Amino acid sequence: MSRKKLVIGNWKMHHTGPETHHWWQRWQELDERPDPQQVDLGVAPPFTSLGPLIDLSRHHPLLVGAQNLHWESSGAFTGEVSAEMLAEAGCDFVIIGHSERRQLFGETDTRIARKLAAARRAGLLPVLCVGETADERSAGRTEVVIEEQLQHALDHFEIDDPGALVLAYEPIWAIGTGQTATPAQAQAAHRFLREILAAAADSQVGAGVRILYGGSVKPANAAELAAEDDIDGFLVGGASLDPAAFAAIAR
Ligand code: PEP
Repeated sequence: MSRKKLVIGNWKMHHTGPETHHWWQRWQELDERPDPQQVDLGVAPPFTSLGPLIDLSRHHPLLVGAQNLHWESSGAFTGEVSAEMLAEAGCDFVIIGHSERRQLFGETDTRIARKLAAARRAGLLPVLCVGETADERSAGRTEVVIEEQLQHALDHFEIDDPGALVLAYEPIWAIGTGQTATPAQAQAAHRFLREILAAAADSQVGAGVRILYGGSVKPANAAELAAEDDIDGFLVGGASLDPAAFAAIAR
């Protein structure tokens, strides 16, 4: 099954409103932007820059998404933002279970499963992140860990359509470290995740869900990773802050 490539930039806690305008201006001025027929593009700015980026990209082929959400629609949850609020603001997707949220903010598999359900309820495309630590990889536990993360998430999330979910395999040791997984390491993990999806749903879902790789992706290593059969694009942190680098990765 052919899967259109997808490249998403995760700006993390970077880029104020004016910086978002500047990024967009530089993006518009690039000589060579990726061909929207070949690759879907998305950017997840901080909450406060969602409005500016949604306005700026209104007539352009750019998906805009959030980096987190709360699973309830509304309520006494100080500091939180719901899936419905994100959808109403114009978001297309939401990143769920990023390792920084798991490690720094105590995100559990149970919460992640609730967040997936909330995203579906509000019509947002969930981009679910899974990945192992360096210690887990050296102990030979990569598959056990990512299977557990995915199975937990799927406990309350039936996938009937390959377009209902995007997965991101993000080995934690590769995020923001400059140490990218080799194409063979990433391909093996992606193939394994695809098999779990096929077993959990059906072969069409297994073959059709887009699985992104994330972890120190740069223009210099994107092509060899993207050449692997089961790597359908990237979740890009640091390099997505630079429009030229982001465009080069996507091209
Ligand atoms: C990320 O934050 O999802 C990520 C992959 O970061 P980086 O590209 O900077 O490693």
